[in-house]
Amino acid sequence: MATLDQVLGRWEPVIGLEVHAQLSTTTKIFSSAPATFDVEHPNTHVVPYCLGLPGTLPVLNRRAVELGIRAGVALGCSIRAVSEFSRKHYFYPDLPKGYQISQLDLPLCEHGALSITTDDGKPRLVHIDRIHLEEDAGKNLHVEGEAYTLVDYNRAGVPLAEIVSAPDLRSAGEAARYLKALRAILVALDVCDGNMEQGSLRADINVSIRPRGAQVLGTRVEIKNVNSFRFVEQAIEHEVVRQAGLLEDGGKLVQETRLYDSA
Ligand code: ADP
Ligand code: MG
Repeated sequence: MATLDQVLGRWEPVIGLEVHAQLSTTTKIFSSAPATFDVEHPNTHVVPYCLGLPGTLPVLNRRAVELGIRAGVALGCSIRAVSEFSRKHYFYPDLPKGYQISQLDLPLCEHGALSITTDDGKPRLVHIDRIHLEEDAGKNLHVEGEAYTLVDYNRAGVPLAEIVSAPDLRSAGEAARYLKALRAILVALDVCDGNMEQGSLRADINVSIRPRGAQVLGTRVEIKNVNSFRFVEQAIEHEVVRQAGLLEDGGKLVQETRLYDSA
């Protein structure tokens, strides 16, 4: 297998990040349940809405919208006077309602940018396509050796801002520096506590490669929920080498979601 340096001589990585930042509110985005992190006491931060019980309705948390706007202003976005929530339907035990409330067509913030330092030490703007608000899901806990799965709904309904960058990043280092800069801004403004270990800030990494000099984008692969700067770099480097190996062997990339296993 070719080394990373050999691969980078022939191929240019193209990376876009979707960053989920938990907004620092006291209560959840659509209910009065506490939004604080607590894995010691599963299923204590729940009200009927979090469980999707019939007859419960969402009530939007004003503070979540204010914090989302604060992030948008800091990142140079335009803020929509009228934005819209939509239901994203999927069937999974971590989401008892059967749909996640998110924003699709009319997100709260759009068209921002964040300046990073490239590998050559020069400044470059990374465009931010959109910031939308959504509710987090619960957490499935797979019990080793058992035929069942437990679910903790403490996290279900916690407010998230999803910050979607354009595919403007060109290396693992740039992606890590972008995430560091973004985290610093969100923490400084009290929008998010930035605790990556607890999952308050996590990134979905979209990676493709193209021959050096090419203009068109390659097929992207998405790596979900990466929660450390080091893992972001390692996941990208691993994926770039994997994609180059596949293409150079005459293979074809499929657009898919992959998990990063640090071990
Ligand atoms: P989805 O939610 O379906 O993954 P989004 O449009 O919300 O789609 O996010 C797409 C992400 O993937 C953005 O961060 C974007 O910059 C990135 N992206 C899109 N095309 C490519 C590509 N060819 N290579 C790398 N990243 C890409
Ligand atoms: Mg995605």
